[in-house]
Amino acid sequence: MNIMKQKTPFIFAGLFLVLISIFIFRYVNVQYPPNENNQTADNFEVDVRESTGDEPKVGFDTTLHSLEDPNSIWVIVNKQRPLPAGFVPSDLIVPSVKLRLGPNEEQMQLSRGAQQDLENMFTAAQQEGVVLVFGSGYRSEALQAQFYDSYVARDGQLAADRYSARPGTSEHQTGLAVDITSPSGECHLEVCFENTPQGVWLAGNAYTYGFIIRYLDGKEDITGYQYEPWHLRYVGTELAKELHKNQLTMEEFFEITVN
Ligand SMILES: [Zn+2]
Repeated sequence: MNIMKQKTPFIFAGLFLVLISIFIFRYVNVQYPPNENNQTADNFEVDVRESTGDEPKVGFDTTLHSLEDPNSIWVIVNKQRPLPAGFVPSDLIVPSVKLRLGPNEEQMQLSRGAQQDLENMFTAAQQEGVVLVFGSGYRSEALQAQFYDSYVARDGQLAADRYSARPGTSEHQTGLAVDITSPSGECHLEVCFENTPQGVWLAGNAYTYGFIIRYLDGKEDITGYQYEPWHLRYVGTELAKELHKNQLTMEEFFEITVN
């Protein structure tokens, strides 16, 4: 009995050490090396940047701006990602460029964050002999509802959904999207705009001013919209260059699934 009593603390100490060892072994096994398929928020970027070396995102800080904040220049708005109900940008301004409508029209505004680059883009095009016209910028939820309802009445809902956003899901409501047209109105809001001098110039140059062709040809299943060579979206020059270089949509680049 005496001997057992003396040994008891050692037995417990031994058991304790064994349990600690098992715990450490399991912990070390899970953490090192990291599971390559374990793309959690913490290690996702590291995985991307240290991978093959020809990934479009290598060396690009994908966390620079929010994808959710409606005031962010990187906000992703699509059929699955509506804006907060009744969202109105706080920094709308009428740019000093050639406008399609009167300056008091709601649509002749855009977000101040995009103003300078837009004006520079219009000036640069003009210097190369291409006159751009600001066709439509900001649209309130109410105005978008008017447009959408009229398209549904004319073409039916299925067709309308391919080219017009339902209220609350339009990029135009962010103040960061602009439809560009020409002084003659040739191919206004039509795919043939891509062959006009304005369309050709924008496809080759808009990205250097921070604008992308948001709805690319052949990507309807990704963006949810038909090709719209006239619809530009401001995302800032860093991201615009990256997207243009790789001909990627925002959804592809940020790996956002749209169904
Ligand atoms: Zn548009």
